[in-house]
Amino acid sequence: MISENNQGIRCKCGGKLKKGAGEVEFFGIDFGVKPVNICTKCGSEYLSQEVMEKIEAEIKKRGLFGLEKRGRVSKSGNSLVIRIPKEIVDSLGIKRDLPVLIYPSERSKLVVEVERK
Ligand SMILES: [Zn+2]
Repeated sequence: MISENNQGIRCKCGGKLKKGAGEVEFFGIDFGVKPVNICTKCGSEYLSQEVMEKIEAEIKKRGLFGLEKRGRVSKSGNSLVIRIPKEIVDSLGIKRDLPVLIYPSERSKLVVEVERK
């Protein structure tokens, strides 16, 4: 991350950063529109240190911090299976038969959205 004091620093793609505002979302929590530095070349958004700290505090408050777990893809019949660790199940209140939406967000990132009624 690039902090607000580092104006003039370039994006890792080599593009210039310009001040703007962007919709900020982490762990499915909507933090609203925050000031961000946007790369004019690739469109990457960089949050200021202040905004990052606010997000971190909120994530800690909600008990979502440190929930990353390592797992492994296994196989069941013709499908591949990824187990959801108990800590994440408990924290998000995921229940059997809840509908989920699964989609890739990057080449090596998979998003699983729990659809709540
Ligand atoms: Zn860039």
